[in-house]
Amino acid sequence: MTTFNLLIMGPPGAGKGTQAKRLVSRLGIPQISTGEILREAVASGSPLGREAEAIMERGDLVPDRLVIQIVEDRLARSDCDGGFVLDGFPRTAAQAEALEALLSKLGKEALRVISLEVADDELTRRILSRGEGRADDAEATVANRLAVYRNETAPLLDHYRPVVVEVPGTGSVDQIHERVMKAIGAP
Ligand code: AMP
Repeated sequence: MTTFNLLIMGPPGAGKGTQAKRLVSRLGIPQISTGEILREAVASGSPLGREAEAIMERGDLVPDRLVIQIVEDRLARSDCDGGFVLDGFPRTAAQAEALEALLSKLGKEALRVISLEVADDELTRRILSRGEGRADDAEATVANRLAVYRNETAPLLDHYRPVVVEVPGTGSVDQIHERVMKAIGAP
């Protein structure tokens, strides 16, 4: 059986979470979204949540050590044995390095990286209109999240270049999903 160890990259608003959820239902693999795990931690008022809350509200990145620990714990669970889809991690060079070390420590197959491509003006429009009630979807925060993405995360695409497949992130959710499936060679 093919193991799908997937990573969805793309700027805020590109539809990473939406597409990750489609892959979960189609391939039966778990989604690992550091953003969702952090939002749950904030909602529950845990120590992790208390450390992350103000940082997330500004649209800045929470410290590498916290998100690396989250992913380390999550990837080690047995439901990731047959594959997983990472969304929103890694976002920095240090996180990418830690992920590589972790995958080899756990004896995982290489990642397949999907890059969702969406134009800048479309991203802001989507985030401001998605109405999910996220604390970090205010206009000033969105601008910062896009800047942080450009400065810290976009350079990782070069690092992954040999294994990246680019998928146009415009059109309907279904259309994009079918493109993603094709790009990863899924049935
Ligand atoms: P997301 O749902 O992926 O857009 O993440 C929401 C927010 O959670 C981000 O703006 C960051 O503040 C924080 N966050 C999520 N993933 C990471 C990560 N890998 N590294 C640092 N901060 C993260």
